[in-house]
Amino acid sequence: MIIGIDLGTTNSAVGVWMDGRAVLVPNPLGHMLTPSAVSLEDESGGALMVGLPARERRSTHPTLTATAFKRLMGTERRTLLGKREFLPEELSALVLRRLKEDAEAFVGEPITEAVITVPAYFNDKQRKATRRAGELAGLRVERLLNEPTAAALAYGLHDSGDETRFLVFDLGGGTFDVSILEIFEGVVEVRASTGDNRLGGEDFNELMVELFLERAGKDWSRGDRGDPLLTERLRVAAERARRALSEAPTAAMSVTWRDQAHAAEITAEAFEARAAPLLARLRDPVLRALRDSHVKADDLAEIVLVGGATRMPIVRRAVTRMFGRFPSNAVNPDEAVAIGAAIQAGLKSRDEALREIVLTDVCPYSLGVETAERLPNGQFNEGVFSPVIERNTVIPASRVKSYFTLRDGQRQVRFGIYQGESRNAKENIRLGGIEVPVPPAPAGEVGVDVRFTYDVNGLLEVDAHVPATGEHRQLVIADEEGASAVDFEKRRAELAALKRHPREDDANRAALARALRCFEDFLGAKRQFVGQATAQFEAVLDGQDPREVERAREQLIATLDELEGETWL
Ligand code: AMP
Repeated sequence: MIIGIDLGTTNSAVGVWMDGRAVLVPNPLGHMLTPSAVSLEDESGGALMVGLPARERRSTHPTLTATAFKRLMGTERRTLLGKREFLPEELSALVLRRLKEDAEAFVGEPITEAVITVPAYFNDKQRKATRRAGELAGLRVERLLNEPTAAALAYGLHDSGDETRFLVFDLGGGTFDVSILEIFEGVVEVRASTGDNRLGGEDFNELMVELFLERAGKDWSRGDRGDPLLTERLRVAAERARRALSEAPTAAMSVTWRDQAHAAEITAEAFEARAAPLLARLRDPVLRALRDSHVKADDLAEIVLVGGATRMPIVRRAVTRMFGRFPSNAVNPDEAVAIGAAIQAGLKSRDEALREIVLTDVCPYSLGVETAERLPNGQFNEGVFSPVIERNTVIPASRVKSYFTLRDGQRQVRFGIYQGESRNAKENIRLGGIEVPVPPAPAGEVGVDVRFTYDVNGLLEVDAHVPATGEHRQLVIADEEGASAVDFEKRRAELAALKRHPREDDANRAALARALRCFEDFLGAKRQFVGQATAQFEAVLDGQDPREVERAREQLIATLDELEGETWL
């Protein structure tokens, strides 16, 4: 069986194709969303926690907890947890492995294959890193699926008979993605994908924090304001209040700092007024996507909402105003991508019910080589980017372009491989380089055919061929990054050997981590109450009677819910 995984910045989810339909898999806490968070128990190398227990520790143990690592995917930036450094793909692998285990417990059989979703704009490096994350987690990545394409599948857009076009409006925790899809005779094609990778629910939280500080008359602009603990506390309180504003016209926000409680009330109206500049930023990527795809807004059959932050009424209103009509929201916006991934997994397993759907995508960036141009004065203009596969080309695609020697007697031609839109190669992302020997001859006489092949997973192969000698050079970009097969196996083994809390522990760990956070957040009688409730729960935990533990946990959660409202994902 193949599973479908939405590996998100804030939350992740996993689905399976069962009895002819996509089903989301609950984690041990019974939630369909698992926070993309990893936390180490203590400095000296205790066990790792993944999901909600880890996220609950972000404010109490900021240096032992990692979140939002998807933003770093494809980079070498390491996160230090205790004594060990983790690459973004390793942290992602820990989340993937947990989802794999949840799915195995759900279906009762080992799982080794997955479809994993990635943002449509993810470049080659980010896609390769995601693939490696899957492999580090012990999953063969059957396919990397673009998130908007997954959302389209979840909405059943592929079932609409005629040629139709849709816009997927995806506002998550930290990123905003707009895609225009076209569906014709069961073929789904991403016509354009744009976005703003610095815009999401978190930015709206910052506005809530601003409003709160003004209302509560606090000026923490100096000193304390830089304290990560205070920042995280404000963030948690803002998130809670912002979610409350999705349901009610006002929300109370409170934060305890240096043994003092600070509170303020925030109205939906004030929030909307403050959010105007952020809401305005939603417009540009939409216009760019329409322009790139040559689709008119009126020709869109539907506007599909994806991403938890589209639950905010102010965002829904902004979308309605932008298009002059209501968006569709038949599928839970934070589950749509995982459901789509599960449908694609079903498709991969060749399930009967899905046989007719074919998927195609487009290449999100232009791919090409760095070349030099000869100027009229005989000099060279170096570092010019020459695209071989243009942005928004339907993939899989294979294109060839010929380049000629620039100097007499030149013995080799060297190409830098880049991804991006700038004419100046250095401003684009360098993916690697390739060199091919050529027979010495006068300038411009020897040609090299450079073929770029981009497959459905968004992985690139480059082949340089010299027709004069029959010489070929191929580039496997993964090799350039120095990740040899031996290294990879070693990393996988190291990751697998890390001590981890078993998933069965998650519910108890999450409740305890939350109690600890509340203890730090509250003061006076409330704090004492939390302290007592925690001690009672710990005593029952020591007794190790599963039924008693479950009862005590539910009691602790009920107490915390009463004190701070229900927990959220
Ligand atoms: P995602 O990346 O799709 O999991 O979306 C996460 C974002 O959705 C976070 O910024 C959450 O604050 C936001 N979100 C989820 N539920 C709600 C809600 N009910 N009201 C407002 N924002 C929400």
